[in-house]
Amino acid sequence: MNRPNIVILGAGYGGIMTAVNLQKKISPEEANITLVNKHDYHYQTTWLHENAAGTLHHDRTRISIKDVIDFNKIKFIQDTVESIDPEKKVVKLEDGELQYDYLVIGLGFESATFGIEGLKEHAFSIQNINSARLIRDHIEYNFAQYNIEEDGQDLITIIVGGAGFTGIEFVAEVANRVPELCQEYDVPREKVRIINVEAGPTALAGFDPELVEYAMNRLEEKGVEFKLGTMIKKVNEEGIVVEKDEEQEEIKSKNVIWAAGVTGNSIVQESGFETNRGRVPVRGDLRTPDYDDVFVVGDCAVIMNPETERPYPPTAQIAIQMADTVAHNLKQMLSGSDELEGFEPNIQGTVASLGHTDAIGVVFDDKKLFGRSASVMKKAIDNRYLMKLGGLGLLLKKGKLDMYH
Ligand code: FAD
Ligand code: NAD
Repeated sequence: MNRPNIVILGAGYGGIMTAVNLQKKISPEEANITLVNKHDYHYQTTWLHENAAGTLHHDRTRISIKDVIDFNKIKFIQDTVESIDPEKKVVKLEDGELQYDYLVIGLGFESATFGIEGLKEHAFSIQNINSARLIRDHIEYNFAQYNIEEDGQDLITIIVGGAGFTGIEFVAEVANRVPELCQEYDVPREKVRIINVEAGPTALAGFDPELVEYAMNRLEEKGVEFKLGTMIKKVNEEGIVVEKDEEQEEIKSKNVIWAAGVTGNSIVQESGFETNRGRVPVRGDLRTPDYDDVFVVGDCAVIMNPETERPYPPTAQIAIQMADTVAHNLKQMLSGSDELEGFEPNIQGTVASLGHTDAIGVVFDDKKLFGRSASVMKKAIDNRYLMKLGGLGLLLKKGKLDMYH
């Protein structure tokens, strides 16, 4: 008898957790399961800002797929997905094609550039291991160059676009890293500028105002300059052009890092799936609106919060939970049942890191945390994920076990 083919695209939080769940639920006699990913490792996107700033080595962030996936149960293909044909049920890879009966799309996010001139060419963004370590090396190279050039102010000016969670977490790591770079490359600390440009009137829009104030004060103490109500209009070789109150200003910088928003992987929209701002408005059971055999997990999907009537922000927390629902529903479909589970996100809180021992967060509905207690909570969340993904062995290998230091 022909076994159905389940194909999972992407080994981010949603994809790899779907695979890990399926290898526990489905035997090789029931289905052929294939996981496709660009690299032979999974990475924790939620730590990439640390890798990009150079405060954590990228090998701590990436996890070999062979360490969490049983290759006797799941076939792993290292390749790049180019497109999906949902009518023919075929995935086109850089190096071949795959036929599926059931598909799980977990191809993650891309930086949203909003058509801003010069952004793609001249700004960096924190998207994966390769882009994160490039940012780290680029900033370090520019610090090394500072004492060689006559006027090197632009080399030691670091601009971060966007003061959402990614921008704030990255700027906090940079603020911690700069003193080390100054010492290493004989750069006077007072000459370095770290500028966080945010179009909206506040950093971390929508988050608890007391915690936002705490975060901004802490970062300003470390030398971060905030430019609020200021929009990045253009990026070029020299730096950026910003606009505030209809006045434009040019800021010279060789280090422009764009952290001002994300969208779903463009492959999904280009493959003809219905999307809303690049993300698939999935049904309750996480299948696409048009195809009964295609599930979407993580940042490629969008789900509405009925209380706020706005989409839930795309997070790892939701991607991991979606993987449980998708695995359950695939098991149901394989056993011939049409009783599929509806996805209910269980938001346990939001915690943002402000560097190694500092953070802010709201947990258990309305409990506010800041400073060391928030930082301990953040590391506990990360450690819990590692436990879920690969058990104690993985936690001991990659976890943040220095929680109280
Ligand atoms: P991703 O994590 O984006 O992974 C996608 C995977 O698909 C990758 O392995 C990639 O290599 C692979 N892939 C992509 N394209 C292809 C292709 N064409 N072919 C083959 N493989 C491909 N959320 C939280 O809940 N808490 C946090 O603390 C938090 N911190 C964050 C910090 C940063 C710096 C950033 C950028 C985001 C953070 N987020 C956080 C958001 C969270 O990281 C994302 O919501 C989450 O990564 C989405 O998971 P995903 O499974 O959709 O895909
Ligand atoms: P975001 O959309 O949350 O924030 C982007 C920010 O950039 C916004 O404040 C926006 O006003 C600003 N912006 C947009 N265009 C601009 C311009 N031209 N000039 C200046 N500012 C501009 O995006 P993000 O911070 O990348 O977060 C993406 C997702 O990842 C979110 O869902 C977030 O919740 C999640 N995330 C969570 C955590 C955490 O929980 N600790 C950390 C990082 C990211």
